[in-house]
Amino acid sequence: MKISRRAIPSVGRFLEALHPSALPRPILTQLIRQQLAAVRASDRIPTFEQILQDLHRALDDLRLASLQPVINGTGILIHTNLGRAPLHPEALAAIQAAGRHYNNLEFDLAGGTRGGRADYLEQNLALLCGAEAATVVNNCAAALILILRHFTARKKEVIISRGELVQIGGGFRVPEILEVSGAKLREVGTTNRTALEDYAQAIGPDTAMILKVHRSNFFMGGFVESPPAEALAALARSQRVPCVEDLGSGAVCATEKLAAIEHEPTPAEVLRRGMDLVCFSGDKLFGGPQAGMIAGKKRHVAALRRNPFFRALRCDKLILAALQSTLELHLAGRSAELPALALMQLSLSSLRARAERLRVALQDGPLTVEIGTGSSQVGGGTLPRARIPSITLELVPNEESLDHFAERLRRGPSPVLGYLAGGKLKLDLRTIFPEQEESLLAALR
Ligand SMILES: *Cc1c(COP(=O)(O)O)cnc(C)c1O
Repeated sequence: MKISRRAIPSVGRFLEALHPSALPRPILTQLIRQQLAAVRASDRIPTFEQILQDLHRALDDLRLASLQPVINGTGILIHTNLGRAPLHPEALAAIQAAGRHYNNLEFDLAGGTRGGRADYLEQNLALLCGAEAATVVNNCAAALILILRHFTARKKEVIISRGELVQIGGGFRVPEILEVSGAKLREVGTTNRTALEDYAQAIGPDTAMILKVHRSNFFMGGFVESPPAEALAALARSQRVPCVEDLGSGAVCATEKLAAIEHEPTPAEVLRRGMDLVCFSGDKLFGGPQAGMIAGKKRHVAALRRNPFFRALRCDKLILAALQSTLELHLAGRSAELPALALMQLSLSSLRARAERLRVALQDGPLTVEIGTGSSQVGGGTLPRARIPSITLELVPNEESLDHFAERLRRGPSPVLGYLAGGKLKLDLRTIFPEQEESLLAALR
């Protein structure tokens, strides 16, 4: 039976009831209309209060969907779902300054004429990478697509080892990136072993380039072989085929000095081994905003910049401002200050002292709190083997289920994310900034 329209309260009545919400009115109106449409489509009339209750829940879900800071207790330093690298205060200040007023984005202040976008950044990125030239685009996937489109404009085949046809996070599969770029995939070797001869035999008249993809988010052990990059680059050079490495993470400082973890190859090392171009992400170990950095041979970089597709991939002024500031920090020898890298260096004793303070502050609350040990990960598709010992706050709610407790923490005004293990909700303190501790305490109390 169809419900009479008159039986359902008006949008206006609900708007009044939801009034103190912080969301703009059109958003509330739309939400109410959707809710009332659902009521009309059903065959039962809920009371005003029932509809209001559903609306509150829907409103809450909507508010949670908006981009906002979270407290990361996962122990994963570069978490793709949590925005990857947090930015340095100087990078944030640069965004403020560039965004607030006008700027010289494409204006040459020295000459008083139109200038090149990101000239300063590109020049100094090249310096950092020990490269002839460098440029930036929106992310590493865009960098790779641009490189592939450029080199496969005439010849089509891209030679790549079967051991490097990888998937990186959601929606980035190397074979698919090749396909959308119009390249033809020429796989060589096997999953675990690819020899230099495999590459040599595959080079032919239609070879556009050789692509090497850094195994950034997994590792292989056992019966494994791949040719040294130097040998691969030398082969490519002798056959006049460009050779490119997708490095992904792109640490530009010695990661092994920050914590007891492996050395992550740097773009400068990749280029020294003879690669023509290297690309890497701006928001992984580089510690900046989302961007795709490209460095290498001057003529290749210049050609990439001239490619009409480059225009669709270029970075916004705010990103360029943050990148420039992050780059300067690296060049000034201040890499270790970048938040993601600084967190790696926190000592166990300092984390334990913080955990102790938090535990005391949570005494007599609704939780059983213990201090445990855990291991932080770099994450974000970098250093898959690295585990950095850490300290955890281990929580068991006294009067509700663990799942319910975890959900309430996620839905709070300062959402808190941890992980469930051994019947406890664990928060790794390494990835929780000290300035977030007050909000964390408020949430836990
Ligand atoms: C992370 C990663 C990418 C993708 O980088 P985005 O900046 O997210 O586009 C590509 N290749 C490798 C090897 C990676 O690790």
